[in-house]
Amino acid sequence: MGYPHPSHPRETPVLSKYFGDPEARTLAGWRARGGYEALEKALATDPVEIQNIVKESGLRGRGGAGFPTGMKWSFMKPDGKTHYLCCNADESEPGTFKDREIMRWTPHGLVEGVALGAHAIYAETAYIYIRGEFTEPYARVCAAVEEAYAAGILGANAMGSGKRVDVHVHRGAGAYICGEETALMNSLEGRRGNPRIKPPFPAVAGLFGKPTTINNVETLTAVPYIVKNGAEWYKQFGRADNPKSIGTKLFSVCGNISRPGNYEVALGFPFKEFLYDLCGGPLPGREIKAVIPGGSSVPILTREEAESALMDYEGMVAVGTMMGSGGVIVFDDRQDMVRQIARLTRFYAHESCAQCSQCREGTAWTTRIMERIRDGQGTAEDLDTLLSIADNMSGKTICVLSDSCATPVVSGLKKFRHEFEAKIAANRSQVTVPGALRAS
Ligand code: NAD
Repeated sequence: MGYPHPSHPRETPVLSKYFGDPEARTLAGWRARGGYEALEKALATDPVEIQNIVKESGLRGRGGAGFPTGMKWSFMKPDGKTHYLCCNADESEPGTFKDREIMRWTPHGLVEGVALGAHAIYAETAYIYIRGEFTEPYARVCAAVEEAYAAGILGANAMGSGKRVDVHVHRGAGAYICGEETALMNSLEGRRGNPRIKPPFPAVAGLFGKPTTINNVETLTAVPYIVKNGAEWYKQFGRADNPKSIGTKLFSVCGNISRPGNYEVALGFPFKEFLYDLCGGPLPGREIKAVIPGGSSVPILTREEAESALMDYEGMVAVGTMMGSGGVIVFDDRQDMVRQIARLTRFYAHESCAQCSQCREGTAWTTRIMERIRDGQGTAEDLDTLLSIADNMSGKTICVLSDSCATPVVSGLKKFRHEFEAKIAANRSQVTVPGALRAS
C-alpha cells in the first residue's frame, strides 16, 4: 500500500498530520512529535477528570453512530469490578478506509489513545480487534504495542504510574458483522460473531459479562490530542452555529472522483467545496450523479442534495442522510444505480449472520429481486415488493445490518426510480404473477 496524497491546504490535519511520515511510526519518532505526553498526564489524573475533559470537548463516536464519547466513558464507575476497553478496528463499511490509515501511519497514536481510554474507564485490559484483512495495519499496530511494552509504557507499571495497562491485539477473520460491537465481543470470547440483544448495553454487561466500553480507532486516536491541548482547543473545530458537532473528522473518498483518498476537515465543512475543491470533482467530462456520504449503510444523496449539505452529524441529517463512518462513495453520470444498489444488497446478504429471519430472508430476497431488475427480468410489482420487504427489515432485528441493506434500496427507489422503471419497461417478457414474492 502506498503513500497518501499530500494534504490539501483546506484540510485540518490533526489525526492525519503524520500520514506519509514513516518516522512517526516508531516509538522514538512518535515521542519526538509529542507522543505519549497526553498518556503520561492522564495516568496522573483522576479518571473522572479525564471523562469530563472528553465530555466537555464534545467528541462523538467516529465509527458511525456519533454517540458522545465522554458520556459513554462516564457509564463506567469505580465499582471494583473488572472493566474492559475494546477498540473497534474492524473497519469494514464499504467506502471506509480511514482507520486503516491511522493504524498504518500512526500506530502509536492509537496505542496511546487505547491506553488512555483504558485508564479513563477504570480498565486494566484493553483489546484492539482488528479486521482480518488488514495485514499491514496489523503488523504496524503489533510492532507499536511491542515497542510500548519494551519501553514500560504498557504493562504492570504503565509509564511509572503504578497503574497496569495491558493491550492485546486480536485479529478478526474477515466477517463484516464482527464490527458490530456485540458481535465483536462474542468473537473475542471465541464464540460465533453473532450480535447480542441490547440492552444490556456493553457498559453494563459486555466482554466476558463485565462492564465494557467499545470505541472506534478514530475516536480513541483523537483523545490524546484533546487531553494534551484541552477541550477548548478542540472546540475551535466545527461551525459556530452547531455546538453538537465538534472536532475534525477523517472522510474516505472513493468512486468516480478525481482525487480519491482520506481527507481530514473540521466538521461542518461544505460538502460541495469538499467534493470539487479538495477531491478535484468528477473525472474530466463527467458529472456527479449521486453520493453516499457515510459508508454504504446511509441514504443515497442526489448531486443537488450533496452539494447543499454540510459535513457534520446534523448537516447530513438535514438533507435526509447520516454522516455515518465518513465513507464518501461518488457515482458519476455513467453509473447504473440499479446495478450499484444490487452490488450493495449482495454484500449485505453475504455478510448477514442469519440470526434474525427478517435479515436472513430480507437481504436474500432483496438481492434476488434487485439482480433480476438489473438483468432486465424485473416486473412492475417488484418495486412495491422491494419497499414492502424493506419495511419488514427495518427496526426489527438485533442489529442494524438488515436496516443497512434496506436503506440504499429505499433511498435509491425514491431518488432514482426512473432508472428502475426504465429497466422494467425494457423487459419484454414481463408477466404479472400475483403474490408478493415470485421465484426468479
Ligand atoms: P448504536 O447507536 O446502537 O450505539 C452506539 C454506541 O453507543 C454503542 O457503543 C452503544 O453501546 C452505545 N449506546 C447507545 N445507547 C446506549 C445506552 N442507552 N446506554 C449505554 N450505551 C449506549 O449504534 P451501533 O449499532 O453501535 O452502530 C451503528 C453505526 O455503525 C451505523 O450508524 C454505521 O454508520 C456504523 N457502521 C460503521 C462501520 C465501520 O466500518 N466503521 C461498519 C458498519 C456500520
